[in-house]
Amino acid sequence: MSLRVIFLGPPGAGKGTQAQNLAREWGVPHIATGDMLREAVAASSALGLEAKRHMNSGGLVPDPVVIGLVGERLGQPDAKTGCVLDGFPRTVAQAEALDALFARTGIALDRVVFFDVSRGELLRRLTGRRICRACGRSFHLVSAPPKVAGKCDACGGELHQRADDSEATVATRLDVYQTQTAPLLDYYRGRTLLAEVAGEGPVDRVAEAIRTAVGQAVTR
Ligand code: AMP
Repeated sequence: MSLRVIFLGPPGAGKGTQAQNLAREWGVPHIATGDMLREAVAASSALGLEAKRHMNSGGLVPDPVVIGLVGERLGQPDAKTGCVLDGFPRTVAQAEALDALFARTGIALDRVVFFDVSRGELLRRLTGRRICRACGRSFHLVSAPPKVAGKCDACGGELHQRADDSEATVATRLDVYQTQTAPLLDYYRGRTLLAEVAGEGPVDRVAEAIRTAVGQAVTR
């Protein structure tokens, strides 16, 4: 089976958590531009150094940089069977570049899943989020605390707050989402690819809504 799906939604909507689980279930790679950019920052590559300024301020990394990264990643053998794209595209220019990339290889996008979450809930989730430095697992100080404060349940690694999850930067990221990414809803609605799911509520219930939305596209 081949499956190409985009998870679209504001920061903190739960795209990463769902993408990680569902991509494994569907046997396709989880491609998260935020993770790829953080790896480049950690490696202090030229790309990472450029990306860091934008990421720390809550703005977007320039389109050509991100489009180049994704183009390269989609060309790797494991992406032949499909992908769950998480955090890409984030602008109309990125969506157009992705269309062109897929068109060149004769590939069709199956579904775009939009995660609907209120601004208040996004702020609560993002500012309380803590990430394991070692394995990347995500916790929440109030709703999903680790068993031992500051330590990852899975690997014992140290938990930290992402630099861009501070209150001031989160507000900027949500504004950037509204102005630059939200227009993609109409872009994909116009192609009848968009499915909306309620992103609040238990992880399992959201996952089931996504399976239904994606299943309908695949059996269309
Ligand atoms: P995320 O982990 O998806 O919240 O992304 C973290 C940060 O990486 C964003 O706030 C942006 O600065 C940058 N980033 C991730 N994906 C993209 C993208 N598709 N386009 C531009 N910047 C991105």
